[in-house]
Amino acid sequence: MNQDIRKKFPFYIKNKDVSYLDSAASSLKLKSVIESLNDYYANNGSNIHRGVYRLAYEATNQFEETREYVSKFINSNLNEVVFTKGTTDSLNKIASSYSDFIFEDDEIITTELEHHSSFIPWQVIAKEKKARLKFLPLTEEGKITVENFKKVISNKTKVVAITYVSNVLGYVTPIKEIIEIAHQNGAIVILDAAQAASHLKIDVKELDVDFLAFSSHKMYGPNGVGILFGKEKLLNQLKPFEYGGEMAHLVFKDESSWKDIPYKFEAGTPVIAEVIAFKESIKFLEEISLDKIHEHEMKLRDYTLNKLKDVKGLTVYNKTAETGIITFNIENVHPHDAASILDQNNVCVRAGHHCAQLVAKFLGVTATLRASFAVYNDYKDCDNLVNAIIATRDFFE
Ligand code: PLP
Repeated sequence: MNQDIRKKFPFYIKNKDVSYLDSAASSLKLKSVIESLNDYYANNGSNIHRGVYRLAYEATNQFEETREYVSKFINSNLNEVVFTKGTTDSLNKIASSYSDFIFEDDEIITTELEHHSSFIPWQVIAKEKKARLKFLPLTEEGKITVENFKKVISNKTKVVAITYVSNVLGYVTPIKEIIEIAHQNGAIVILDAAQAASHLKIDVKELDVDFLAFSSHKMYGPNGVGILFGKEKLLNQLKPFEYGGEMAHLVFKDESSWKDIPYKFEAGTPVIAEVIAFKESIKFLEEISLDKIHEHEMKLRDYTLNKLKDVKGLTVYNKTAETGIITFNIENVHPHDAASILDQNNVCVRAGHHCAQLVAKFLGVTATLRASFAVYNDYKDCDNLVNAIIATRDFFE
């Protein structure tokens, strides 16, 4: 990867010795994103979709331009892109709204690999509606397979709520086949793409996915912006998520009507600057290409794993992951203690259950350490990680 990449991330001005390996939680922010945020806050500040003066028009145009970027990025129709606060917000909203179509004895398929935001909304809805929550059995390694999906899908299945890339193990779900089979059985698929969007090319038309969610803050972009893609036909069937300003068409004392999609799902003032700035992330990802980014992250992962294979007292849980995540534990050291020592060595990794307690249970642990690679990482970060792991192990010996 080009050395100039780091120059696009102001983080490295003050933190040049830090190995930031927690991008699966939140990535560093692009200079162009920060500049765009500053530009709106310094030079505009007006609201969108309502003002009839030049600055308000400009803000609206810049905001709507991001919708165009997103829709091209995932190959959707323009009106199929809904702005939300994040993946959690998107997944909760869609679950809550789509639950109108769930009835007693219906089946909802999910997996133990899910992030809480993909799993818990459906767990709650299943209880409320007396529907059946079914778990797709994972392989011994913790992978989702088409073969095992076929064992649980039935014509009673209404929803498949599933992750594209596991945030703990980094496995890529064979989603195209799963969607095809789900549709043959009359079910819709809600795809959690939070860990996929900055690593894998997503084409919603090719996948034929029904709903899909991801977050800007994991894509070198601002916090507070989420994307919810939904097929036009399905979005049109759903009731609004919230009621209020800018989502209503006509309002009378006894009844109101809604704007067309996507606006009927975007009540109130959104995070305007952040949405405007998010297009800078998409420009960056497309300029480099997701294939190249993914290849770079896999090279770093392979290099690190190769160095770690001779380190004693280490368990790696996802040796065959298809994305740049290494999840591990150091023998007899609690992950939180390990993360503190790694931090003293200028290495930032995540420790805990990663908001996916069912995965930890599957692995038979309470917590793990997770190093995740991104576009700005290099071999020096990998060496720092390996050396810091050895130092941590030795410290607690
Ligand atoms: N799904 C997965 C797979 C994730 O990794 C995350 C964040 O870590 C989320 C959902 C939730 O994303 P957010 O916190 O941006 O709402």
